[in-house]
Amino acid sequence: MDKTKYIFVTGGVTSSLGKGIIAASLGKLLQARGFRVTNQKLDPYINVDPGTLNPYEHGECFVTVDGHEADLDLGHYERFLGVETHKANNVTTGRIYQNVINKERRGDYLGKTVQVIPHITDEIKRNIKSLGSKGEFDFVITEIGGTVGDIESLPYIESVRQLRWELGKNCLIVHLTYVPYLAAAKELKTKPTQHSVKALQEQGVQPDILVLRTEHNISPEMRKKVALFCNVEPSAVMQSIDVPSIYRVPLNMQAEKLDEVALTKMGYDLATTKPAQMEKWAAFVEKLEGAKEEVRIALVGKYVQLPDAYKSIIESLIQAATYNDRKLKLDLILSDKVNDENVEKKLSKVDGILIAPGFGTRGMEGKFSALKYARGNNIPCLGICMGMQTMSIEFARNVLGLKDANSTEIDANTTHNVVDIMDEQKNILDLGGSMRLGAYQCSIKPNTKAASIYSQSTISERHRHRYEFNNEYKNAFENAGMICSGHNEESNLVEIIELKSHKWYIGVQFHPEYRSTVVNPHPLFISFIKASISK
Ligand code: GLN
Repeated sequence: MDKTKYIFVTGGVTSSLGKGIIAASLGKLLQARGFRVTNQKLDPYINVDPGTLNPYEHGECFVTVDGHEADLDLGHYERFLGVETHKANNVTTGRIYQNVINKERRGDYLGKTVQVIPHITDEIKRNIKSLGSKGEFDFVITEIGGTVGDIESLPYIESVRQLRWELGKNCLIVHLTYVPYLAAAKELKTKPTQHSVKALQEQGVQPDILVLRTEHNISPEMRKKVALFCNVEPSAVMQSIDVPSIYRVPLNMQAEKLDEVALTKMGYDLATTKPAQMEKWAAFVEKLEGAKEEVRIALVGKYVQLPDAYKSIIESLIQAATYNDRKLKLDLILSDKVNDENVEKKLSKVDGILIAPGFGTRGMEGKFSALKYARGNNIPCLGICMGMQTMSIEFARNVLGLKDANSTEIDANTTHNVVDIMDEQKNILDLGGSMRLGAYQCSIKPNTKAASIYSQSTISERHRHRYEFNNEYKNAFENAGMICSGHNEESNLVEIIELKSHKWYIGVQFHPEYRSTVVNPHPLFISFIKASISK
């Protein structure tokens, strides 16, 4: 059995170059050749995990099957590879230092001075190699968050330097940079790339492959120039040109021979290595780019100024629209700007409405107005997590007549706590430990919309919540036509509600978006879009 090989993806010049997409694209190409691949993200911030970060900081908090609140890049990795990630796939500086300090407090270091080298770098390397230690992967692709040159990245780059030394050919470094285009001079400029590579070299790291983000094609001459200044072969200087869809990137990187150059540098003979089977992927991208008719979906949420806050939901909608031969037209509606007076103007032209997850009071009333409009006008509507909770409250207020119905998250003293805090959460004060997180089973009630969508009686979906539907109201809801069609039997928790008399009106306590991938789009989103385009 060949030893696991480690590929590092670093970024330079500026942030937001799409390191995650390049890392996921390389993973996809290697996986398409029959290799077992997993991606990992190292985040250089001191927060112990992304779970307590405001979505405006780094976008969506992605949740793994084992309940880790992770960076949104893990969503890209799963959507591209279709391989579940876990807690080990995302580590922050905060967690690295917490682990080292816990060891120091336990006396594990036997009174020695605890330092960045070797203790912090050893912990970083331990977290990287832990993914490859069980021999379940041929490649571990680790994306180093941040930008080379940042002070926060120094321990990670030092760890990469050490691993490059320790692993030899079982290690490869891909450095992603940006080549700006000066419109006035009509020139692409490679100096920032040269400086970024120099910064890496000063830390003892020589990249094996350079990927240049660019708005325009980079000529062979310019690639030769970059190769000369950066000590790599011209064939190892590639471009990643701006594209309308991230799903085009794996095909572009295949055309740039990213997988071929990487495999060759790690000692593989391409003649005896399976070619990348990308036909299914290419067919999806053709569908995506070829779709003419639109499906217009409103996403009603409180963080819509930063679409990355809903990354997995938006990608799930794009996938579902594509498989329904439609182009997604997304209306991002700020929930705190919606009310009963303007809701018609905001939502009358959409084919479907999605009420997004969220925390806290802001925007709740706007979600109620949107739901009342969707329910009253037979517009397909999907509620996710807080979306299902607001569906419950709106139904209680406007159908059951419980005018002060609310969630105890919003009003702890409401007399009708249609949505209440879960018992096991009541006394947890630890900032990071107060959520029901990860995959849990859900039984589907037969002869319901949920049953026809999932076509199976038990499903497993991922969660991130503290509040739940209050079972005391179940009979009243069902007698009034809101069916509880999904349950977690273990916790006696309502997981799915659906309106019988409506075209398509479903609320789910879980997050289906975390499970939708390019090759296996989520059935709930497929069905939601199908209902949205049906007349
Ligand atoms: N704030 C709600 C809860 O904690 C919903 C959470 C969410 O939408 N992710 O249960």
